[in-house]
Amino acid sequence: MAEADVAIVGGGAGGTLVAIQLLRQARAPSSIVLVERGERVARGIAYSTADPDHLLNVPAGKMSALPDVPDHFARWACTSDAAFVARGRYGEYLEQTLRESIARAPRGVSFQIFRSTATSACLVERGVRLTLVPHGHLDVRAAVIALGNFPTVDPAVEDGGLYASDRYARSPFLPGALDGIDPDADVVFLGSGLTMVDAALAFRERGHRGRLQAISRHGLVPQVHGPARPSRTRIGAIGVRGLLRALRTEVARGGDWRAIFDGFRSSTQRIWQRLPPAERERFLRHLRAYWDVHRHRMAPRVGEAIAAMRASGQLSIRAGRIASFALEPDSAVVRFWPRGSRDLIEMSAARVINCTGPAASIEEACSSLVSSLLSAGLARPGSLGMGFATDRDGALLGSSGGRLFTLGSLRRGDLWESTAIPELREQARALASRIVGSSLREIDQLRVHASS
Ligand SMILES: Cc1cc2nc3c(=O)[nH]c(=O)nc-3n(C[C@H](O)[C@H](O)[C@H](O)COP(=O)(O)OP(=O)(O)OC[C@H]3O[C@@H](n4cnc5c(N)ncnc54)[C@H](O)[C@@H]3O)c2cc1C
Repeated sequence: MAEADVAIVGGGAGGTLVAIQLLRQARAPSSIVLVERGERVARGIAYSTADPDHLLNVPAGKMSALPDVPDHFARWACTSDAAFVARGRYGEYLEQTLRESIARAPRGVSFQIFRSTATSACLVERGVRLTLVPHGHLDVRAAVIALGNFPTVDPAVEDGGLYASDRYARSPFLPGALDGIDPDADVVFLGSGLTMVDAALAFRERGHRGRLQAISRHGLVPQVHGPARPSRTRIGAIGVRGLLRALRTEVARGGDWRAIFDGFRSSTQRIWQRLPPAERERFLRHLRAYWDVHRHRMAPRVGEAIAAMRASGQLSIRAGRIASFALEPDSAVVRFWPRGSRDLIEMSAARVINCTGPAASIEEACSSLVSSLLSAGLARPGSLGMGFATDRDGALLGSSGGRLFTLGSLRRGDLWESTAIPELREQARALASRIVGSSLREIDQLRVHASS
């Protein structure tokens, strides 16, 4: 059995940012283990793409891994703050920043990467025992759960055997999801957000000639980033109404709504936390689709490529609701109700690709580690069942006694705005300083009390 002071479970961008912060803040002697089930750290789905057309959707000036060095990434990439760099490059940057942090860590601070899947957690005298496959048990004083997004869920409709067939891909990011399709065949995407944009660009890169048809509830496509122009409109009362008023004023003045939206970003978490649960639900039901396409925008070059594909007729976007699927010998059949119509429409496709993005609910996490944390009472669901309930620094609310922490999309219910690098790096810094500053000491005191 292995032992360490802190384990980080999940070596995507979030876990890597925590590792970087722990290495920078740790006092010797201490040991840190990063547990990642995949081949590479610092990638996750977002930054493992090698497609040069898959660009960051946040400008370089806002993507630094280090909150106290805002231009760290732009300087590393030798580019301007306003540039949109390829996502694969960002993965390289994160990995290199991690390596540099390991090299610069104080003597006596050790760091290891375990290629393993964490399948469960329980409390033991030392702190937390993680079960790792294939490593066995790892006992740590504190653990950070950085699992990122949950897998996509299938639409809850009659699927006629589609989901079990090779005519369906649960996500465009799965190995082989886009392979083996006749270049002239039609493809249907479920969803029309940034995941669909990635998939459409990947088909374009492969020289696909067939039609690409996307269906989503509202038929909305992400907006495009514009040049950063400061706004003259001030947001008065902070709240959803204040935001809407400011947006209208800005647009009426001929200004750019993007500046208002971006200026509002630092207040989003506070506003979300003040909304009663019923209001949060209303937001998710009625406004979320509109929020997502304005808040998570495409890089200008990506926007141009998507506009050209739509103008040529290769890519079409339809608003509607899936009714059912069926399988024919040589195609998949998609039946859907166009928005506002009662006439069922049928489309055939060589493959149906689910681009609806990650599952929102922790009940749908499909992770034995998450199930074990919930069933042992070490964690409980966050607001509206999204992620875990956490305190201000990301400690899980439950019976772990401050030994378990999380960040990123697993805090979505509590914070809403909690998935992109600008939020992740702040959370990583706060969490590392809490673990280094007080948690390890408090955990030791808990052990003294327990044994006396
Ligand atoms: C396609 C895409 C593009 C994006 N583009 C941007 C962007 O341009 N800018 C931006 O700021 N944000 C972007 N985002 C948001 C993105 O979610 C974050 O930037 C970041 O990648 C999230 O990192 P994470 O570590 O929380 O999750 P993930 O990247 O999902 O990493 C989680 C890691 O945990 C590992 N893991 C899971 N379960 C276990 C287990 N049981 N045991 C061991 N390991 C486990 C996984 O293998 C994975 O490596 C994008 C997201 C996506 C999906």
